[in-house]
Amino acid sequence: MTNSDSPINNENFLELIIRKDLDNGLNKNDLKFRFPPEPNGYLHIGHAKSICLNFGLGKIFSAPVNLRFDDTNPEKESIEYINSIKKDIKWLGFEWNSECYASDYFDQLYKWAINLIKKDKAYVDFQDQEIISDQRGVPTSPGVNSPYRDKSIEENLSQFQKMKSGDYNPGECVLRAKIDMASPNMHMRDPVLYRVMKTAHHRTNEKWKIYPTYDWAHGQSDFIEKVSHSFCTLEFEVHRELYEWFLQNIDTKKSLIPKQREFARLNLSYTIMSKRKLSELVDSSLVKGWDDPRMPTISGLRRRGVPPQAILNFCEKVGISKRENIIDYALLDFCTRKILNKISYRLMVVFDPIEVVITNYDENQSETLLAENNPEDKTYGNRKISFSKNIFIEKEDFKEEANRKFFRLTLGKEVRLKNAYIIKGDSVEKDDKGNIKKIFCTYDQKSKSGSGSPESLRKVKGTIHWVDKNNYENISVDVYDKLFKIESPDENPENDFKTYINENSSNSFKNVYAESNINNVDFDKYYQFQRKGYFKLDNKSSDKKFIRTVTLRDNTKF
Ligand code: ATP
Ligand code: MG
Repeated sequence: MTNSDSPINNENFLELIIRKDLDNGLNKNDLKFRFPPEPNGYLHIGHAKSICLNFGLGKIFSAPVNLRFDDTNPEKESIEYINSIKKDIKWLGFEWNSECYASDYFDQLYKWAINLIKKDKAYVDFQDQEIISDQRGVPTSPGVNSPYRDKSIEENLSQFQKMKSGDYNPGECVLRAKIDMASPNMHMRDPVLYRVMKTAHHRTNEKWKIYPTYDWAHGQSDFIEKVSHSFCTLEFEVHRELYEWFLQNIDTKKSLIPKQREFARLNLSYTIMSKRKLSELVDSSLVKGWDDPRMPTISGLRRRGVPPQAILNFCEKVGISKRENIIDYALLDFCTRKILNKISYRLMVVFDPIEVVITNYDENQSETLLAENNPEDKTYGNRKISFSKNIFIEKEDFKEEANRKFFRLTLGKEVRLKNAYIIKGDSVEKDDKGNIKKIFCTYDQKSKSGSGSPESLRKVKGTIHWVDKNNYENISVDVYDKLFKIESPDENPENDFKTYINENSSNSFKNVYAESNINNVDFDKYYQFQRKGYFKLDNKSSDKKFIRTVTLRDNTKF
C-alpha cells in the first residue's frame, strides 16, 4: 500500500483514491466500476455494502457500473442464484450498465494462458493439491519447486491442450503460473490458474473441462470490461500483487489497467455473513429457505419487512473503512424503525385479548370513528374503525391493582382508548379459578378523540389499543428472534457455527385480533400495529399472516 492509499477519513477513502487518479490525469469518462458476485447463493447484507459502495460511486462520478457474475465454479452455481441476485440489486434501487459473465471470457482467458505458457510463465503440474500446498511452505522461508516446473514449453502446451480436451481427470493436474516460489507473498508462489472439472456449466454447458480460478479470472475480467477501479474486501489485499502480475503479463497494449483496492467487509452481530455458511443453514433445514425472515439475506430482510431505504441508510451509516469490526445488529433495526415510522400504515391489533364491557354504552349502538393512517404523514389519510359496547384489549394492559407507575387500565383509574374514548375500570368478572374473564368499564361520552371538546383534550396518563368485538378479524403473526445465541457465531473456528443456533427464534401467534381494516392490507405496504411493532404481510402465505419486522423501540442509541 502506498501512502496515497491510506484512509484520510473512514467515510470515503476509496472516493479520494478516485479523485486523486483524476487529478493525476485519468479521464473522467474512463471511470467504470463493477459489482462481481459469484452466483453460488443469495445476496446478504454484506453484499449490500459492496453494492452501495460500487453503485454509489457510479452515481457520484456519473460512471457506469457493471454487474459481473463471477461464474467460474459451476459445481456451486446456478441460474436460480443469478436471478435472485438481479432481483435483489433492482429491489435496492440500483441499475447496472452491462450484465456480464466471467464465463463469456473463458476463450480469451484460455488464449492468455497459452501465451503465458509460451513465455515460459506457466506450467502443468501433476502433483496433488496437498503436496502443492506443502511445497509452498511458510512466508518466512522459500518454498520448494515442483518437479514439473521446468518442463519444456512444448510439453506444457500439449498437456494444457489435453487438460482442455478432458484427457485428464479432476485432481490429476492443474495449470500454475511460474512466478516465485521464494516470494514472501504466498499468493505469488506459483498460483493455480486452471483446474480440471468435468461439471456442466449453467451457461457454457459441456464446453469446458477446465475452469479458471478466481485469481486468474477476476483481474482479467475487470480488464476486458475496462473497469477502472476494482473494489474488493480486505482479504484480497494479499492477492493484489498477483492481480497486478497477471495484468502485466497478459500481452496487452491497451492502456487502462484496472486498479484493485480493498475495504473492510461488513460483519454483523448475531449473524454470519458467508454464502457458503448460509447455504449450509438452508441445506440442513435449520432455516426455511434463503428468504427465511431470520436470514441476513436481502431476500430474508425483504420478506421480514425491512424496506430497501433502511438497508441503504444502514450501509451509509456503517461507512467504508479499512478496519474490520462487528456492527451491532441494533443499528440495522434502528435504521429500519426510522424509515418504517415514516412510511407505515397504522392498525390496531390485539395479541392476547381480554374483553372489556362498557356498561354505560348502549347495547344496540355502534359507531364509526376516524383514525389517522399515519400521524407522521397526513397524505396517508384516515381510516374508519368501529366501536361498540364490547371491545378487546391486551390482557397485559389491565391490572386489578397497580402501582402509580402503571399507566394502563386499572380499577378506579382512567385510560384513553386509542382513537376513541376515555374509559375507567370499575369491576371484573372471574372464573372459578380466579382468572379474569371480563372487565367492566364506564366511558366518558364527551371524550371522543379528535372531537375538540374540552373532555377530549383532557390528559390521562395512558393510551391503549383495542379492537371492536363486533367487527374484527382473526389473523396469525410470526415473531422471530435472532438466529444465533451469541454475538459472533463465527468467531471460534473449532466450534461449528451451527451449534450456536437459537432454537427458540421462531414463534407463531394464531389467535390475534385485528381491526377489520386488516382486510385491505397490501403486500407491498408496511404496517405498524400500534404499540406492538412493525409488521409485514407474509408474501409466502395465502392466509392473512404477518411477520414482525421489528419492535417499536429499543434503548440502544446511535
Ligand atoms: P461470501 O463468502 O458470502 O460468498 P464472497 O466475497 O465470496 O462472499 P462474492 O459473491 O464473491 O461473495 O461477493 C461479491 C462482492 O461482494 C465482492 O466484491 C465481495 O468483496 C463483496 N462482499 C462479500 N461479502 C461482503 C461483506 N460481508 N461486506 C462487504 N462486501 C462484501
Ligand atoms: Mg467469493
